[in-house]
Amino acid sequence: MSTVLVIGAGGVSSVCVHKMAFNPDIFSEIHLASRTKSKCDAIAASVKERAGVDVATYEVDAEEVPAMVKLIKTVGPELVVNLALPYQDLPIMDACLEAGVDYLDTANYEPKDEAKFEYKWQWAYHDRFKEAGLMALLGSGFDPGVTSVFTMWLKKHKLKTIRQLDILDCNGGDHGQAFATNFNPEINIREVTAPARHWENGEFVETPAMGKKVEFDFESVGTKNMYMMYHEELESLAKFNPELERARFWMTFGDEYIKHLTVLQNVGMTRIDPIKYKGQEIIPLQFLAAVLPKPETLGETTKGNTNIGVIATGEALDGSGEKTFYINNICSHEAAYEETGNQAVSYTTGVPAMIGSAMMVTGKWEGDGVFNMEEMDPDPFMEMLNDHGLPWQVKEMDGPVDF
Ligand code: NDP
Repeated sequence: MSTVLVIGAGGVSSVCVHKMAFNPDIFSEIHLASRTKSKCDAIAASVKERAGVDVATYEVDAEEVPAMVKLIKTVGPELVVNLALPYQDLPIMDACLEAGVDYLDTANYEPKDEAKFEYKWQWAYHDRFKEAGLMALLGSGFDPGVTSVFTMWLKKHKLKTIRQLDILDCNGGDHGQAFATNFNPEINIREVTAPARHWENGEFVETPAMGKKVEFDFESVGTKNMYMMYHEELESLAKFNPELERARFWMTFGDEYIKHLTVLQNVGMTRIDPIKYKGQEIIPLQFLAAVLPKPETLGETTKGNTNIGVIATGEALDGSGEKTFYINNICSHEAAYEETGNQAVSYTTGVPAMIGSAMMVTGKWEGDGVFNMEEMDPDPFMEMLNDHGLPWQVKEMDGPVDF
């Protein structure tokens, strides 16, 4: 039984708060705060209707550390669950340190003026959390999050070491819009337009964005083009699996998405540096995000499945030589919407955020300091995935990937 304070009221938060409310034996009191209180109230109303649970709501600017500290002290939670944007990670971590409470998030800190996707800023908080006897868990979404747990589960149960790793993120959903992103547009477009980077022989190799495309047949989706890109879990996976010879991340994009993105990029709409417009400074990508469909409005029209997983090749634990395993989850947009009122991209992130929170408040995962998912025992987390809407499957493949 525990009290949690969730920050942010977008699609991911909505799923996580619903899932917490469905598990009152773990989360006895849920508090929800964000920049726009009406969005918290809308989530609270849906939770009341679907789960019969009351969620207390507040307005807060998470970048204002004193306001966050005051809110944390008023609520008295065991854990602060940061489901706002990556820009707020450090101020929320500062507030947690000052108020003496544990912290969890789903995306690494990003400076507003540079697309970096690096853990260095948050790893630098390790000693302060350790000295305070507090725990911070980083990246408890799907990717990062479940992909790291999948990898460590394979390493615990199937492979002694991992030589090659490929993360395959397929969204086979169709939302019926010409162009929209399935999670925060600003963060999504920053990720996609950044140069690709993959881990090879002890270092990151940089290649042009969207420069490598491969066709892959995804179960329950069909054949899709996937593109190699950088994703933040490559950094923690490489750190905690030093034997890795190669690790890559792939995401599927339809031709329409690529066409729109190329035009937007060519005309400068994806820039993240400020420009002067009518005497005011604006950031083109933030303006674009404001005019694009809000991800939380896509739920009703999105049909199809996501299929996200990890293919790992390495020396088998049982001494039978080199083996390759594919471990993945398939999630239906329609089923996610039916259960929580949100599409599967929010669902596949919000459920692991709830499970990571459950791991921390029940003490199944504990420690003093700042931790990545790779450092924790994968088993209890994997068990909860099966029980809470994200069942996974693992199968052996004939050999390593040939792309
Ligand atoms: P949304 O943009 O839908 O929601 C973000 C929420 O944060 C909004 O409610 C927003 O408020 C709030 N917010 C923004 N700034 C502040 C602030 N200064 N103070 C308080 N609240 C603030 O994003 P998503 O729900 O799609 O994503 C949430 C997080 O999950 C992001 O960090 C994203 O990167 C991450 N993510 C992780 C994934 C993973 O697999 N690991 C996958 C997908 C997303 P307002 O409503 O006023 O705008």
